[in-house]
Amino acid sequence: MFKKILIANRGEIARRVIRTCKRMGVQTVAVYSDADRDLPYVSEADEAVHIGGASPLESYLQVERIVEAARSTGAEAIHPGYGFLSENPVLMQACKDHGIAFIGPRPDAAERMGNKTAARELVRAHAIPVVPGTPGPVRGIEEARNHAAAISYPIIVKAAAGGGGIGMQVVKSEEELEKALQAAQARAAQAFGDDSVYLEKYVEGPHHIEIQILGDGKGNVHHVFERECSVQRRHQKIIEESPSPFITPELREKMTAMAVAAGKAVDYVNAGTIECLVDMHRNYYFLEMNTRLQVEHPVTEMVSGLDLVEQQLRIAAGEGISFDPASVAQKGHAIEARIYAENPNNFFPSPGRLTKYVEPLGEHIRVDAGFREGNEVTMHYDPMIAKLIVWGETRTEAVRRLREALENYHIEGIKTNIPFLKLVCEDADFAAGNYDTHFVERVQKRLKEQKVKL
Ligand code: ADP
Repeated sequence: MFKKILIANRGEIARRVIRTCKRMGVQTVAVYSDADRDLPYVSEADEAVHIGGASPLESYLQVERIVEAARSTGAEAIHPGYGFLSENPVLMQACKDHGIAFIGPRPDAAERMGNKTAARELVRAHAIPVVPGTPGPVRGIEEARNHAAAISYPIIVKAAAGGGGIGMQVVKSEEELEKALQAAQARAAQAFGDDSVYLEKYVEGPHHIEIQILGDGKGNVHHVFERECSVQRRHQKIIEESPSPFITPELREKMTAMAVAAGKAVDYVNAGTIECLVDMHRNYYFLEMNTRLQVEHPVTEMVSGLDLVEQQLRIAAGEGISFDPASVAQKGHAIEARIYAENPNNFFPSPGRLTKYVEPLGEHIRVDAGFREGNEVTMHYDPMIAKLIVWGETRTEAVRRLREALENYHIEGIKTNIPFLKLVCEDADFAAGNYDTHFVERVQKRLKEQKVKL
């Protein structure tokens, strides 16, 4: 096992990696920007290196500085967390060049799965269903018009290099296409430095269900079941759970087998996620693969009992996995709610200082937070403050526990989405496990009709 690793990330995910490292006796090096000096992860790591200004471009996206920080502190490996450089081939190559292990995928697998249209074609060649759409990026309006007519409206325009639900445009008819195409291209260029977009059939009322996989570096790919991630705002997840209340045992069997096949198609090594859309008739379609640890990995840990960061470290160190894949099961039910610094009425960011910050305590309650009282949530990064994860013997018990934990979460100084999350816990459809990706819109519509302000 490594003696020392560097974590090329910040906030809750840096803390999450530190926690496992402490338990395993692995030393940690944190990196931090001007804005993050006072965050808990900086003091919790064994060493910390300042890497630059507040904006990600000046700090967490600086490959050279991060590699230099690893070299100067003698870190043998880099854990990239999620976001920032986690799927960046330049960092992977730089690690290779300097003899530093990358706690992530091999560069070729990351590259083959990194671009969404290329990934769709790759899995299609392995007889895995994808949402009907264009085989590659579309450029001009004429080309888009022809493709959209063949796919049939409604369609969705998506960034090939996309992530975080950014730049997606739903198009109901041909009249809306040109504007949507331009908007998606502009947003993609701005967010990802790549304006390639493609078209997909817009699946009505779908579920977002994803499968956790682990490629052990010894030629095997295993799965750790599914996560249901259909509670979303602006195409971004806010509540995730495992098991999914929507899928049947037969569908679980098929989807997990498909995910393992997709992992094997790129000889995958590391933790990864196969994201799918499942329509109301329970037909499933591959959406994309994420070649990193996901924000929502704790629900998988709560039901499986595994520590996914530990498995990542063991795989990267060449040890393979430390559990018997045949014995992995989904025990009980876990739900994660993302706590954001945002206005609960419209989900606009609400940065500022946490003048009061008290987490809920209790059995089967886990809080992965990036901040403590007195810290400031700045505009420079994602406004997620923490993740609240609960476990129950049954889904009903887990929902009840989530409701109580939200009641005991006290944050002052900024607005948070906690009032909205509480409302979700009280919703009859959510309680019944009866929801799809339009659920949040429906709740918002109801609030508007009832003139309720949170
Ligand atoms: P990103 O990588 O930006 O997160 P995804 O492709 O994973 O984008 O999609 C994010 C979400 O957007 C999905 O969970 C789903 O709610 C919605 N979405 C994406 N593609 C489609 C589609 N073809 N039809 C309907 N909804 C879609």
